[in-house]
Amino acid sequence: MFAIYGHQNAARLAFYGLYALQHRGQQSAGIVTAGQGDGFAFKKGMGLVSEVFHEDDFSRLPGHIACGHVGYASAGSYRDIQPFSIRYNDQFFTLTMTGGILNGPSLRRRLEKEGSIFQTDSDSELIMHLLARHMHQGLEQGLISALNLLRGAYCLLLMTNDSLIAARDPRGFRPLCLGRMEDAYILASETCALDLMDAVYLREVEPGEILFVNRQGLRSLKPFTPLKHAHCIFEFVYFARPDSNVFGQNVYLARKRQGEILAEENRTVTAKFAMSFPDSGTYAALGYSAARGIPFEMGIIRNHYVGRTFIQPSPDIRDFQIKIKLNPVRELVRGQEVIVVDDSIVRGTTIKARVQSLRRAGAAKIKALIASPPCRHACYYGVDFLGRGELMAGSHTVEETMRLLDLDDLRYLSAGGLLRSVRAEKNADFCLACFDNNYPLPPEEERD
Ligand code: SF4
Repeated sequence: MFAIYGHQNAARLAFYGLYALQHRGQQSAGIVTAGQGDGFAFKKGMGLVSEVFHEDDFSRLPGHIACGHVGYASAGSYRDIQPFSIRYNDQFFTLTMTGGILNGPSLRRRLEKEGSIFQTDSDSELIMHLLARHMHQGLEQGLISALNLLRGAYCLLLMTNDSLIAARDPRGFRPLCLGRMEDAYILASETCALDLMDAVYLREVEPGEILFVNRQGLRSLKPFTPLKHAHCIFEFVYFARPDSNVFGQNVYLARKRQGEILAEENRTVTAKFAMSFPDSGTYAALGYSAARGIPFEMGIIRNHYVGRTFIQPSPDIRDFQIKIKLNPVRELVRGQEVIVVDDSIVRGTTIKARVQSLRRAGAAKIKALIASPPCRHACYYGVDFLGRGELMAGSHTVEETMRLLDLDDLRYLSAGGLLRSVRAEKNADFCLACFDNNYPLPPEEERD
């Protein structure tokens, strides 16, 4: 998510911002602009940011306010692509959000019983309905009342013709930061989007905070009862870019510490060298290698020029999707015992194909060190790929996983080790629910 208020090139900057945030969603992209006249302009589409937007789009996206999103449009439907815009009482509103609303289905059913008609499955549309129902209280109080009904994780950006509003749930599950560029204010999921345009990082939007940005400047409200924070620790394992700071910490350094702690926790594992499956495991592998004094090698090389659209190969070319991206250095791995450091195992399909490619290249022994604990439980806070029943560690023991992945050894970072990597202790302000089943907001109570 990215938004900017108060810049004449708002749409173009939103494009750059989304470009920097592309790793947070690759199926769809959208930008809506406002602030010139009464209306909104928008462009959305399925695909990467570079595929959806073209130079001539920017002249059709006027206005000094822009709001954009990259995401996973559910079921690949154009209507589900964010940002989501509505017209209500002669006013335009555009909303984009990340997260997951646990009581979304029951709220939606209640509204439908009362006559609301939904066009999409998105939580953004649900929030718009709730806001419209409370607009008689005015925008500020109406938004507070609408957000008060939500149980879950959300970061949202709401745009009107003359203002930009950001809100973060009281537990602060997902990151959202505030930056400044000349006279403009920027809101973004990660700080890497600010760096790209030389914007200055000001601070995080705080958990439970609603931030109003308009011609008068910034105004902060904290209308909700403070709750224990539950920042998503998976941001430090996989989601966030390593050059970003999230929840006040640098991701690269946290990942390196994960590798160092893996080394501490697994002193008996030995091999000729340590390597990673680039890029995800590389930062932890560097930390591991330095801490153990085992050399780090680029045992597998990544092709950086793989687009999404290439001619599908004939079925006789096995594992083409994996092979076109990553290719082992045969002369390096042949006949060797290797340690592979990876960030996490979710479904297990990607690591399995990569291990097979190392086997074909002649690796004698493959020992996997995973820089996070076994991921056994679903995420209800907006991470769809951590779904129930799809997680390798959810239905297999470590020994079974080892056999299924054809590994000679498999070790995971402990939950305590993961917390230490973000300089936190037990009961710190982090969510580890997909690892430890300790849900900050229990799904049983909220989900239908
Ligand atoms: S359950 Fe896992 S992925 Fe979801 S918010 Fe918690 S730590 Fe993050």
